[in-house]
Amino acid sequence: MSTIDPSVARILDKALEDKEISVEEGVKLLGVRDFELTALVLVADELRRRAVGDIITYVVNRNINFTNICYVGCKFCGFKRRPDEPDAYLRSFEEIEAKVEDAINRGATEVCMQGGLPRNMDGYLYRDILQVVKKKAPQIHIHAYSPMEILHGVELTGLSLEEYLIMLKEAGLGTIPGTAAEILDDEVRRVLSQNKLKVPMWVKIITTAHKLGIRSTATIMYGHVEKPRHIANHLALIRSIQKETGGFTEFVPLGFIHENTFLYRKDGAKPGPTGLEDLRVHAVSRLMLHGYIKNLQVSWVKLGIKLAQLCMNAGANDFSGTLMEENISKAAGATAGEYLAPEEMRRLIWDLGRIPAERSTTYELLKVFNQKEEAVTEANPTYTEAASHESGSSLTPTLPFSGITVT
Ligand code: SF4
Repeated sequence: MSTIDPSVARILDKALEDKEISVEEGVKLLGVRDFELTALVLVADELRRRAVGDIITYVVNRNINFTNICYVGCKFCGFKRRPDEPDAYLRSFEEIEAKVEDAINRGATEVCMQGGLPRNMDGYLYRDILQVVKKKAPQIHIHAYSPMEILHGVELTGLSLEEYLIMLKEAGLGTIPGTAAEILDDEVRRVLSQNKLKVPMWVKIITTAHKLGIRSTATIMYGHVEKPRHIANHLALIRSIQKETGGFTEFVPLGFIHENTFLYRKDGAKPGPTGLEDLRVHAVSRLMLHGYIKNLQVSWVKLGIKLAQLCMNAGANDFSGTLMEENISKAAGATAGEYLAPEEMRRLIWDLGRIPAERSTTYELLKVFNQKEEAVTEANPTYTEAASHESGSSLTPTLPFSGITVT
């Protein structure tokens, strides 16, 4: 510490004393380079070690992006389609069932479902999809529906937020992705998407879900038009929610994929973060959330696999999922692929000198690989908690989208 800028050293010393980092201090750290950046990364790695030790986790999961039809029009999105575009799609119940079957056959413990927002969708469609998935695979954990999708369902059904979330939970919803967060600052959000839910509504949906026992991830999308202050404010807000509810399972920095987006091509946004920005955001996330959120996840889809591995030395401890299918980042220009095999994740984790472990969505360890390619701890029995009570569903899979007016 004696060789770096004393104002940075003071903040890093404070972090090493397990003290809370302020927004102003976060902003300072988000601008560091050279030795100061190296020191920041080392401190983030040390706090990671204190929080979770040397295990790096991953989940075997399958994404299902059930529709790309969306009216919202976020400028950073390359995925959305109008209903009349030739590559617009809506998956039928049968197609969703087939994807769930594929997930099970490939060892998945989770399906992750997010999609576009068709304007005239049946408000009960999200519930019906959950029932179809649970009928096919009662044991699978369903991680689904961003706060924006939940708001869409609430508005279409006329139910209260609580009623809607309880209905989804009873239909098999396990946890929700804390996406649609982008940057939790309404000035920035107005630039990114005029129609996206505002910060108070995002917070209300997340905190209501947490209070109903539906945990969520928390995310940030960076590397576009935001300033360091927005990132630090975002982290402070996530931290304050976690202090209140304890419902976040992990924090996931998501670098902006720019290539096929209006925000980059027309509005002059940055072409995504640089590698050093990626390191800084992961490291500062670890420092600002220390003591409140233990798990910091890399998105290998956004970072690329090699930079994702490097971020494991900057405070991260989770490799995210195998995915098996990924359409949203790919449509925006991501090139890391749609599937990362567990064996490859373990190879990358061993290379870091750390210990790979397969986890459940909510971070129970299912298999710890204490020796290369040898599973020594069998599945945690708590994993199958959701297996029993929905298996009697009588829902008959049919075409789910007949209620949508294609406009
Ligand atoms: S990010 Fe989601 S809500 Fe926004 S346009 Fe794309 S699909 Fe629609």
